[in-house]
Amino acid sequence: MPTEEKNSPLSTIKRPSVLIHAEQCKGCGRCVAVCPKGVLALGTQHNRYGYRYAKPQNPDNCIGCGTCFYACPEPGAVTVYRKEKKEDK
Ligand code: SF4
Ligand code: SF4
Repeated sequence: MPTEEKNSPLSTIKRPSVLIHAEQCKGCGRCVAVCPKGVLALGTQHNRYGYRYAKPQNPDNCIGCGTCFYACPEPGAVTVYRKEKKEDK
């Protein structure tokens, strides 16, 4: 159990972060446009469906606001990890 707890995503979050699931992205650019910190950009690579998918270009700037998540029309394309509240203390 200690190993599982150590490997839990929530237990390892030290700062907010964003994950783009390349195969779910259609490259519309909405997340890129709305991010207040300039974290995201459309990459140069294409996913298996032929779309240039978004990628974090400045991942350390992410504040976990979730704006990109709400702007994205594709379910499952964006995951935002917010800093655990207990770390804010
Ligand atoms: S959570 Fe906020 S800061 Fe982070 S990538 Fe998304 S819009 Fe940008
Ligand atoms: S808003 Fe969603 S579909 Fe559009 S580029 Fe960003 S992750 Fe891809």
